Amino acid sequence: MVEFVIPAPPQAAAPVAGGGLFPVRRIFCVGQNYAAHAREMGGDPTREPPFFFTKPADSIVIDGADAPYPSLTKNFHHEIELVVAIGKAGANIPAEQALDHIYGYAAGIDLTRRDLQTAARENRKPWDMSKGFDFSAPIGLIEPAAKIGHPAKGRISITVNGAVKQDGDLSDLIWSVPEIVAALSTYVALAPGDLIYTGTPAGVGPLVPGDVAVGEIAGVGAVRAKIV
Ligand code: MN
Repeated sequence: MVEFVIPAPPQAAAPVAGGGLFPVRRIFCVGQNYAAHAREMGGDPTREPPFFFTKPADSIVIDGADAPYPSLTKNFHHEIELVVAIGKAGANIPAEQALDHIYGYAAGIDLTRRDLQTAARENRKPWDMSKGFDFSAPIGLIEPAAKIGHPAKGRISITVNGAVKQDGDLSDLIWSVPEIVAALSTYVALAPGDLIYTGTPAGVGPLVPGDVAVGEIAGVGAVRAKIV
């Protein structure tokens, strides 16, 4: 047997409610999927095709764990998001069949170096270092769709140190979960272990060391992160 020449990286994973681990393969994120947030970012909240960016699988932060304040930013933001966990492979998935490919859902936070993202946008540079840094993807417990169904409406909100900062509803998604899965699967073949952060409602704002962010999605669950 041929052996790895350096230690193999550990499998990134996220706990499932009720037990077990969901192995994380890739993390995809949707940009500007709530009209009010698109406007606050200076975008146009029309139904232009959804666009995607990625984070490394090992940027996952397990629910309740500390998230270190990242280097090279002076404007570090929270974005509460519904996370879709893919359980079944597929490419060019029709929206009508998309829900069959979903294992479950979680609340997640798309942590963002906003100043680096703004500079990247203005200079037509990639978003990777503003979005895909270490510890940039806190995630709550994954709830199996077999247990909770497929949420299409319900409050999505986040508090920082107890004060509500973002407060929206899943029904305000510009692109629905089936439409997101269908669109993303035209770019890449989705596979079990893929996560999709589906975009954030208005009210994004800064986090500083010591802050405790608690996101909640009705019918799905919560995600907690302490910035250290
Ligand atoms: Mn986001």
